[in-house]
Amino acid sequence: MSIPSSSTIGSTVLGYPRIGPDRELKRATEAYWAGRTDASALHDVAAGLRRDTWTGLRDAGLGSVPGNTFSFYDHVGDTALAVGAVPERFAGVTDPLERLFAMARGRTGAPACEMTKWFDTNYHYLVPEVGPDTRLAPGSRKALDEFREALRCGITTRPVLVGPVTFLLLSKPAGGAPEGFRPLHLLGPLVEVYRDLLAELAEAGAEWVQLDEPAFAADRTPEEVTALRRAYDRLASATRRPKILVASYFGELGPALPALAATAVEGLALDLVAGAADLDSLDPAVPGLDRKVVLAGVVDGRNVWRTDLDRALATAQRLVGVAGRVEVSTSCSLLHVPYDLTAETALPGDVVDMLAFARQKVAEVVLLGRALHEGPDAVAADLDAARAVRERVAATARRDERVRSRLDALGPDHYRRGPGDVRAKVQREALGLPVVPTTTIGSFPQTAQIRRDRAAHRSGVIDTGTYAERMRQEIVRVVRLQEDIGLDVLVHGEPERNDMVQYFAENLDGFATTDHGWVQSYGSRCVRPPILHSDVSRPRPITVEWARFAQSLSDALVKGMLTGPVTILAWSFVRDDQPLGDTARQVGLALCDEALDLEAAGIRIIQVDEPALRELLPLHERDRPAYLDWAVDAFRLAVGAVTDATQIHTHLCYSEFGEVVGAIDGLDADVTTVEAARSRMEVLADLGPGVPRGLGPGVYDVHSPEVPGTDELVDQLGAALRHIGPDRLWANPDCGLKTRGEAETVAALTNLVAAARRVRDSA
Ligand code: GLN
Ligand code: ZN
Repeated sequence: MSIPSSSTIGSTVLGYPRIGPDRELKRATEAYWAGRTDASALHDVAAGLRRDTWTGLRDAGLGSVPGNTFSFYDHVGDTALAVGAVPERFAGVTDPLERLFAMARGRTGAPACEMTKWFDTNYHYLVPEVGPDTRLAPGSRKALDEFREALRCGITTRPVLVGPVTFLLLSKPAGGAPEGFRPLHLLGPLVEVYRDLLAELAEAGAEWVQLDEPAFAADRTPEEVTALRRAYDRLASATRRPKILVASYFGELGPALPALAATAVEGLALDLVAGAADLDSLDPAVPGLDRKVVLAGVVDGRNVWRTDLDRALATAQRLVGVAGRVEVSTSCSLLHVPYDLTAETALPGDVVDMLAFARQKVAEVVLLGRALHEGPDAVAADLDAARAVRERVAATARRDERVRSRLDALGPDHYRRGPGDVRAKVQREALGLPVVPTTTIGSFPQTAQIRRDRAAHRSGVIDTGTYAERMRQEIVRVVRLQEDIGLDVLVHGEPERNDMVQYFAENLDGFATTDHGWVQSYGSRCVRPPILHSDVSRPRPITVEWARFAQSLSDALVKGMLTGPVTILAWSFVRDDQPLGDTARQVGLALCDEALDLEAAGIRIIQVDEPALRELLPLHERDRPAYLDWAVDAFRLAVGAVTDATQIHTHLCYSEFGEVVGAIDGLDADVTTVEAARSRMEVLADLGPGVPRGLGPGVYDVHSPEVPGTDELVDQLGAALRHIGPDRLWANPDCGLKTRGEAETVAALTNLVAAARRVRDSA
């Protein structure tokens, strides 16, 4: 059965960046927050960005332009407002813009909503809170307003909303909800609200609406799949509604695919990059799919690599005859990639050849759509041109045989240090630290002066020598400060680092960094992930001179500071032409060179940060052991060659360990520092027995400007000692101090040292 072309959708993308090509939204939002401009100025900037996005996508030749992809902060927060899921503490805030900002940033007496990672991406959403008393009802009319606004630009958009089932699966029970309450219990009433929203959109002229259900790309119970089926049966049964496109992404739908195919929704979007496995489940035919438009998500929305158009076309063609109608799309929203490659004027030509940002991916989608429907001959010249670029890429030297043969030559010994208890003994003698030693996680407050110096250096106003001298002055200041405070293990403070990953990317071969490649992380916060495109190696020492200099200033031990391989990968765009584990080992080897040089320079403690270890954990349970294996391997390679007397620390930025405890133990670090203050050291219940070496549970939260009192810190250490002995306990803050002010930092660390001494004396 085929679908009349009038009712199809054309080639499209599932979503688009919204911060503005030049981060206009960030600037406008922050100016508004600071009270420098009013709401109408902010709304003007937003309207301009929306218009440019809609018209740009239409002019690029997409058959359907997504709407409601804009947000002042976060699309999950927007959805909560659209369905009336507003936590009670924000009910008094009536202005919709202010309400969203209040939920995101909190206000006096009303703490902000929790924020957490959007599946396995680096984007963070506001966690909705729902309880039995949440009165779900159509709330903000943002999707409708933006639909009408686009109509006035002459464009009939396809409004995008987070689907009802994913919305509830991402929600948490509101405070006070009874034991056993699950947000999914509200699915019935929530679906009725969606029916109302859909009716309004249909009334306004919407032909299609897109409901995103990425939660079904993760492991789901049969009950949850049944709930999905019921929800869409009910939505599809409405008489006044646009056609419904259900979009899933970040993996395969698995059992949710036949469930959705059996409903009467008109379209399904499949992620055929991360979820290519769904293709194999199409034979025998999935009942119902032949009545639907299926969007083949063949252009990767998560990464910055140019698409292999021939392969993508062949993938899309596999659906022909299986689906009622096939259209080309991105695998997920383009929210996760930067706007436009043509803005990068400093990238080497051979790297540019490898890349496609959002705008380039839209062009790929359009081209593939034409190739699919008009036949490859209709676009032969464009396909040939793309092939020629790919051939150039294939011929460029992404491989570094020296790196590969070094890795091949490594035996198990390079991944293994001496037994932990032996190392502990050697280190106790070599380092001479007191029990409950005090330290910090690495960075010290990044003063306005440091930031100015870095900007001046980047733009050429001060030369490298002057810049280095200023950084050395800062290191002197920070070392003296720590000596005065009386910390046991000092750090150099990381003033020379713009960012813990970008800094290493800039100093390793195999990476490129961009000037404008910004991606939204949350709200107005954007990151510029480096691009890991070729084999990685370390052309010269990176951190060694800074560490050596810092150590030369003090008799106390100064710890060297590296970022671990998993975190470097997690916060970069990583080449997809080889397994991640192979790339991780290359980074591990480069870090191993650095660790050995630090050791040779007299640095006796080296910390390798892995705050992203849990972040990269695959959505599917079955993929996790393999991931943890290579993650642990890469870390062990980085630190495996130093002597037993050199103490290896690692730092992890979160407090829910669950199934990664085994992997953390596998890292085999001598000391592991973690976030713990907010959970009152509860993390040690798992980590204490699970990671039988040194542990530094953070004793105060660095996200708050409040200075913890000495008594409170003594309490925290006391709580920690209920789980582990004093010989294993370290005293340190939760995380780095770079976003804190100077005065509060000094006060907090002074109290921390006092608390550790008190505990030490009584231990
Ligand atoms: N060493 C880093 C710092 O202190 C660690 C940051 C992190 O864990 N995210 O800033
Ligand atoms: Zn941290």
